[in-house]
Amino acid sequence: PIQEADFIWKNGELIPWAEATTHVLTHALLYGTCAFEGSRAYQTHKGTCIFRTAAHVERLIYSSKIYHIPVPYTADEIIEATRRTVRENNLPEAYIRTNVYLGYGEMSPAAVNAPTDVTIAAFPWGRYMGADAIEQGVPAAISSWRRLAPSTMPAGAKLAGNYLSSRLIALEARRAGVTEGIGLTAEGMVSEAGSANLFVVKGGRLITPPVAASILNGITRDTVITLAKDQGIDVVEQEMPRELLYGADELFFTGTAAEITPINRVDGLPVGPASGENARPITGALQKAFFGLFTGETSDKWGWLDPVEA
Ligand code: PMP
Repeated sequence: PIQEADFIWKNGELIPWAEATTHVLTHALLYGTCAFEGSRAYQTHKGTCIFRTAAHVERLIYSSKIYHIPVPYTADEIIEATRRTVRENNLPEAYIRTNVYLGYGEMSPAAVNAPTDVTIAAFPWGRYMGADAIEQGVPAAISSWRRLAPSTMPAGAKLAGNYLSSRLIALEARRAGVTEGIGLTAEGMVSEAGSANLFVVKGGRLITPPVAASILNGITRDTVITLAKDQGIDVVEQEMPRELLYGADELFFTGTAAEITPINRVDGLPVGPASGENARPITGALQKAFFGLFTGETSDKWGWLDPVEA
């Protein structure tokens, strides 16, 4: 169940949580025309901060543009509204869901006169893949469902409709008794999970599928690439046959919800050398750098922390 907060921001004002409802003929409900972002606020040494808001809002505007969903606010206005939503709900930490969607008023998939509604909800949310996932890792399996091919729908635009694919992958994974399913591209190369990107560690290098492999250009993916390079770890973005997963030294998912979650088994095979002390040195170093951003142990050279208090 969702842990409710007090207010939701809708079209410029904070309204009570229970009043944030919509008409059944909302265009986004009919056709999935909702560009959205999931971001997080962390309790940090600088107080409550939203992580990489500017990058999230930039992607939100990009997603909206592709589907001709006019955004009636500037990036700065959305960023400020996000800070306000977290602040006025008194949330020290939060998961934040921002929606820019076509509202009620026109039936056609090609509607041009439907209004855009913008909402920001912030609420408490724990570990997405389970309490122990960050330390213990999770089992994963290749899905029988392929990800969106670039010639069908753009995987780099984060729209509600794309998550029908994520749902099929996630439900199949659950039936198979694993935490996450890994999607392949239409051509059979590794793409991403239903709601997270994927990294392989092999011979001390990080390997991850390129944007061309039908992935969402994840902000945590970019964070991990940046932190790895900062530590002198080589990062390669290249097409990955699925067998690369079976020979990996380490494997992990990245995402706003997943953060950096190790994968401990893939298709029933244990990941990496027989587990023992420091069995995941690179994943561990990257987790330390990532979570260190919030304690101050990692200096935020990149300006990724955005305090909600002015
Ligand atoms: N891929 C998909 C399909 C996702 O839904 C997500 C979660 N937004 C990600 C990757 C990870 O992206 P991010 O790090 O920006 O949350």
